[in-house]
Amino acid sequence: MRSSHQFYINGAWVDPLSGQKMEVIDPSTEEVFASIWLGDQPDTDAAVDAARGAFPDWRQSTKSRRLELLKSILGVYERRIDEMAETISHEMGAPIDLAKAQQAWAGPFHIGNFARVLEDFEFEREFRPDTPNDRILYEPIGVCGLITPWNWPMNQIALKVIAALSAGCTMVLKPSEQAPLSAIVFADILHEAGVPAGVFNLVNGDGAGVGSQLSAHADVDMISFTGSSRAGRAITIAAAGTLKRVSLELGGKGANIVFADADPNSVGKEIALCFNNSGQSCNAPTRMLVERSRYDDAVEHARVVADSTEVDVASAPGPHIGPLVSRAQFEKVQALISAGMSEGARLVAGGPGRPEGLNRGFFARPTVFADCTNDMRIMREEIFGPVLSIMPFDTEDEAIAIANDTDYGLTNYVQTTDAARARRVARTLRSGMVDINGQRRSPGAPFGGMKQSGNGREGGRWGLEEFLEVRAIGGWVS
Ligand code: NAD
Repeated sequence: MRSSHQFYINGAWVDPLSGQKMEVIDPSTEEVFASIWLGDQPDTDAAVDAARGAFPDWRQSTKSRRLELLKSILGVYERRIDEMAETISHEMGAPIDLAKAQQAWAGPFHIGNFARVLEDFEFEREFRPDTPNDRILYEPIGVCGLITPWNWPMNQIALKVIAALSAGCTMVLKPSEQAPLSAIVFADILHEAGVPAGVFNLVNGDGAGVGSQLSAHADVDMISFTGSSRAGRAITIAAAGTLKRVSLELGGKGANIVFADADPNSVGKEIALCFNNSGQSCNAPTRMLVERSRYDDAVEHARVVADSTEVDVASAPGPHIGPLVSRAQFEKVQALISAGMSEGARLVAGGPGRPEGLNRGFFARPTVFADCTNDMRIMREEIFGPVLSIMPFDTEDEAIAIANDTDYGLTNYVQTTDAARARRVARTLRSGMVDINGQRRSPGAPFGGMKQSGNGREGGRWGLEEFLEVRAIGGWVS
C-alpha cells in the first residue's frame, strides 16, 4: 500500500502541506497498527484546485469514455478485493468473512450498477414531443466534496465516487479518519485504472479540519455527506455561506413492525440484521414493535438470536460479529445500555461490559431490551451497537404512530402475511425505505431517508442525478 501519510492529488501521491499525524487503532486489540496524516486548509485547497482544474475536460468526457473507465476500475478492484477486505476488517473491525462478503463486495456491486444506469442515461433529452425547440440537458454539477463514515467505508465511498465520475464531476474525497486505509487502497485502484489526473483526489482529515473546509469552500459546488445527523447539521451550516448543494445520508432508528401473523423466518432475519456489523448500520432495525398476542414469543425469539450471536476478533473466520469501531463508540453503547436499565426497560439478553472471554478490544454484548416505551433513550437515540429495543402494540394505527414518532426516517420493516396490510403500512410509514417480510430492495433502488435521516438518494438513476444539474434550453434546432 502507498504511504498512509500522503494524499492523492492531481494524479500523484504527495506529501502533506500541513496538519498532523493520527494513529489508527485496531478495534479488536486496542493497539495502534497504522498512522495517517490529517491534512489542513493548504491540503484541502490543493485538492480542490486540482479538481477544479480537471473539471472542464472531464465534464466534456463522453459516456463511452466514462463507461470504459468504470470497467477498468472494476477490473482492478476485483483483482485487489482481498486486500480491500483485509484493510477494512483491520481498520474498523468487521469480521473478515463479513468484510469480504459484504463490505469489500459493495465496491464492485455499485460499480456494476452505476455502469448499467450510465449506459441507459440520456444526458440530453427532448422536453415534450410538441416542443421540438426545447432541450433538457443533464450536466455535472462541478467539483464535489465527498465526506464518508467508517461503518460501511467502501459502500459509502463507491456510492459517491462512482456516481460522481459517471456524472462527469470531479471530486475530493475525505474518508472517515476512523477508517482511512481502505480509501487509500481505493485511491490506488483508481490510479491504476487510469482515472485522469485531478478528477479524483483524496485528502485525509477530520471533521473539524478538512471536512469543514470542504463544506465551506467557495470552489466546491456540492457536498455529498454520509454520517451522523450531528455532522450533517454542521455541514449544512458551513455550506450555507456558498449556497452549495448538500446531499445528506444520515442516521436512523428503524422500526421493525411485527404483526401476529408474521412469518417467524423473516422476523428472525430482521432481528439478526439489527446485530449485523455489530449494529453499526444506519438502516438497522433497532426498534422492534410487536403485536401484543405475539409479544412474548417475539421477545423470546430475540433473546435466542442475541444469545446465539457470537462475538470475536475481526481476523477470526466465521459468522460472528466483531468489535465496535472505537473506544468512543464502545463507551457510547455502554452508556446507552446503562440508560436502558435505569429507565426501566427489561434486560432480556446481553447487558453492560464485554462478552465473556474478551478482555480487551471494543467488544459489546448482543443486547435485547423488552418492555420499552417510546420515550426511553434506547428507543429514541441511534445507539450504533448490537442493541435491540422491543415494545408491544395493540393496533395497526398505534404501531404506525410509534414507528413514525422519531426524528429519523431511513428504513422501516414490516412483518405480516396479510399483503393488503403490508402495503397499507408501507405507504403510511415516514421513511425513505421499507422492507416487507425480509425482502430487500433490488440493486439500483434509491437509498436515502426522510426527516433527520437526510435528504439525499444514493444508488441507481437517483444516485447519478444527485450529481447533475438540470438545464433547460430554448431555441434548440436539431
Ligand atoms: P460522523 O458524522 O461522526 O462522521 C462522518 C464523516 O463526517 C467523517 O468523515 C467525519 O470526519 C466527518 N465529519 C464529522 N464532523 C464533521 C463536520 N463538522 N464537518 C464536516 N465533516 C465532518 O459519523 P460516523 O460516526 O463516521 O458514522 C456513523 C453515522 O453515519 C451514523 O449516524 C450512521 O447512521 C450514519 N450513516 C448513514 C448512512 C446513510 O446512508 N444514511 C450510511 C452509513 C452511515
